[in-house]
Formats: sequence, structure tokens, C-alpha cells
Amino acid sequence: MTWSFTPFTFLNSNHAVNWPRDFQPKRSLGQNFLLDENVLRKIVRAIAPQPGDHFIEIGPGFGALTKYLLAAGSRCTAIEIDQRLIPHLQQEFGKPPNFALVHADFREIDLKPFAKDKKLRIVGNIPYHITSHLVFTAFSQREILQDMILTVQREVAERIVAAPGGKEYGIMSVISQTFAQAELLFVISPHVFRPKPEVDSAVVRWRFQPPPVPIRDATFYVAMVKTIFGQRRKTLRRSLSKLASAEVLEKINFLDLQRRPETLTIAEMIQLANFFPDSQRNEMAYLGSGELRR
Ligand code: SAM
Repeated sequence: MTWSFTPFTFLNSNHAVNWPRDFQPKRSLGQNFLLDENVLRKIVRAIAPQPGDHFIEIGPGFGALTKYLLAAGSRCTAIEIDQRLIPHLQQEFGKPPNFALVHADFREIDLKPFAKDKKLRIVGNIPYHITSHLVFTAFSQREILQDMILTVQREVAERIVAAPGGKEYGIMSVISQTFAQAELLFVISPHVFRPKPEVDSAVVRWRFQPPPVPIRDATFYVAMVKTIFGQRRKTLRRSLSKLASAEVLEKINFLDLQRRPETLTIAEMIQLANFFPDSQRNEMAYLGSGELRR
């Protein structure tokens, strides 16, 4: 589905994006463009781009954020899925050394070739309907990432930083807080986007770091977290019974298996995953296919 609206509705003093008159945003690509330069500058202050930083920007759109990254002397590799935006971005930001444009789906991109000499920084005002897929794609490549600053739907942001015990605490919270320090930086009103989304947005920063307790097998850890939160109303004993024999579960004496997954801290979650013997983890390996992909 597409929107049709006149560009003059959002031409105001804070608007500096060169938007072609006949462009129709696609809802299927989550195209809500950020047009307020004050908000953009606030995001840029949070990003604090430095000369020498290499940013991977997810979905640059018309380059609202890109221009600030390049102005700071940083490198930016922009990954945009919409072919209609490619000529515009190429014309606006030119060629290397500091700018590279990749016409692709971020979910399909191997970031390793871009991280030759230093860790990458991911930024973007991303399409909300595929947030978890985009975030997990990034997390699956966390070894080469320094940090990630994304504008996401506010509710998702609140889940990402949620503490154990509440209904917001789930897969996104556990994965985010296991492999990074996650912070909700500020909330953004729908009024600064065109078309205007129906929800509030928020800027989240993940600073990647090693887990608080070493994890024996990260693939299995993620699979286990997904499994137990897939049945979050069940006790651990019931959801784990799908993964492990009663004999193995019998040996878990460090955790009350009558508890529900949302009550477990990150450290407890890791302790539980680390407990399973290698043989058992191999049996469950099918669960981990794609690791953090969804
Ligand atoms: N960054 C721009 C801004 O703030 O105005 C655009 C933000 S808009 C919410 C999301 C952008 O991501 C669009 O340009 C859209 O075409 C692009 N996009 C959507 N799905 C994508 C994907 N899977 N991979 C890369 N880009 C994608």
C-alpha cells in the first residue's frame, strides 16, 4: 500500500531533506521518514560520530541521518532496499572514500567484509514491522560491532530495556541485555515523521559487550531463550521438558523449575543454558539454526 500526499505539507523551517514531489512512501517497507532537523541533531548527538568511525546505516531513505554522519568525517555504508531511493542517494552523497551504498536487504548482508580494520557502528531509523529481525541480524554479527543506535517503536524499546519480572521482559530484553548494555535514550513524537506513524518512537543504544557470565554455547543459549519465552505462561519445568529428558532436568538443583521464564535474571538464564551437557545440546541443535535470526 502507498500513500499519496503533497510534499508541501511538511516543508517547514526544520525540514532540509530533498524529497522528490512524486515519491510515494511504501508502508510495506516501513517508510516513515524523519524530517525534523532538531530531532535528527538530537539523535546525532547521541550517536556522537567521530572521524574514522565506520557506520552501517540501515535504510538511509533520503539520507536525513547520512548527511550528519558524513559531515562529522565518518565513513558510512548505507544499506537501502528500495531501488527508487538509490539514484537519489548516489547523486546526493557521491562515491567513496567516505560513502558507500549497497542496494540490499539488511537481513541478507554479511557485515564482515566491511569490518576490515575496526569495529562497525550500526545506526538507523528502521522499519518497525521487521525490528526484531533486523536487531537479531545485527546481534548475530556482534563480534564485529561496537554499538548500535536505532529509532524503533517505543513499546519495543521498552521491551528491550525491561527488567525481569514484568510482562515486557522477553526475548528482546534477554538477548539485548546478554550481549550488550542496552539503554532507551529518548522518546520521539509521531509528528516529526512523514507519513506520521500511529505509534511513539524511541532511540535505543546497544553497546556490545561480553555476557556477564561466559556462555558455553551462544547458539544453544539463544535457542533455549526462544523456547522458554515461546511458552512464557508455562513453568520452566514444562517448557524445558520439550528440550531435555526428565533425568537431566532432575539434576537441576540451582533453580526452582516451577518458576516462569520472565522471572529469570540474565545470569540465571546463562547458568541454566550452561548446565545442559554437550550431548543434550547437540540433540537440541536444530533449534539453533540461524542462531539469532528470529
Ligand atoms: N532513515 C530514513 C529517515 O530517517 O528518514 C528512512 C527511515 S524509514 C523508517 C526506513 C527505511 O528503511 C526506508 O528507507 C526503507 O526503504 C528502508 N528499508 C526497509 N526495509 C529494509 C531492509 N530490509 N533493508 C534495508 N533497508 C530497508
